[in-house]
Amino acid sequence: MKPSIFNYKAPATLEDAISLLAGDADAVVLAGGQTLLSAMNFRAANPSLLVDIQHVAGLRGIVVGTESIVVKAMVRHREFELDEDVQRLNPLIAEVMQHVAHIPIRNRGTVVGSLCHADPSAEMPLLLVLLGGSVIAQGPAGRREIAAEDFFQSFLTTARNQDEIVVEARFSLLPPKASDLDAAVAASVAAVTQPDDITVSASYRRRALGTLIRRMVAKAAQRAQMAEAVS
Ligand SMILES: Cc1cc2nc3c(=O)[nH]c(=O)nc-3n(C[C@H](O)[C@H](O)[C@H](O)COP(=O)(O)OP(=O)(O)OC[C@H]3O[C@@H](n4cnc5c(N)ncnc54)[C@H](O)[C@@H]3O)c2cc1C
Repeated sequence: MKPSIFNYKAPATLEDAISLLAGDADAVVLAGGQTLLSAMNFRAANPSLLVDIQHVAGLRGIVVGTESIVVKAMVRHREFELDEDVQRLNPLIAEVMQHVAHIPIRNRGTVVGSLCHADPSAEMPLLLVLLGGSVIAQGPAGRREIAAEDFFQSFLTTARNQDEIVVEARFSLLPPKASDLDAAVAASVAAVTQPDDITVSASYRRRALGTLIRRMVAKAAQRAQMAEAVS
């Protein structure tokens, strides 16, 4: 199948991109296009306007801060996967990235695009929730930070308004000492890899795994309540 008729704009500034979205209730953001264009070809998505953000200034790059790794909207999966600072500071991310689709998809698809698509089976939403990260959304009313657990609301549904662009995602760093590690993260790291500078005892791993399971069960219960509320 082919997509239904749509308009296309490639603005150079964030302000222009937001005003294009705000001016058309059926306009959507186009990032790497790996999910959206297939959905349009199947006519599962029929936007009136695609606002392509790949030329928007300020939406590229990975910034390593003191508390988080900031991933701008146009960072591709593959850039995130291969970034040496990310690999060093949070080995869990590099381990997870190699399971996202295959290399041609990772060369085009964006980390933030995957978060905005909010497929519960995808790796990026899980990683952001697990690490206790957040996204920054910018729209006509300004910027706001949304915690991962508030951002993902349901299947393919986020707290983002139609006229907002997610300009960046913030993933937590792993603290250098096991005693400071968040228990859930420790469990995952211990399961995947154990870097030389982190020592995780067996009892800590057990406690961490328990915490991770409790969090997952709590999240599932919350989702079930939400499903009951709308049914
Ligand atoms: C064959 C195939 C296999 C795949 N396998 C996997 C897999 O194993 N694991 C996995 O996690 N993913 C997988 N994916 C999905 C892939 O990771 C996509 O790249 C990702 O879901 C979307 O990123 P994108 O940049 O291509 O977004 P797009 O397709 O451009 O957009 C996706 C959605 O997000 C919105 N959006 C994008 N960016 C923004 C933004 N900055 N602000 C607001 N809204 C935005 C768009 O409007 C659209 O609704 C696969 C995809 C394909 C085609």
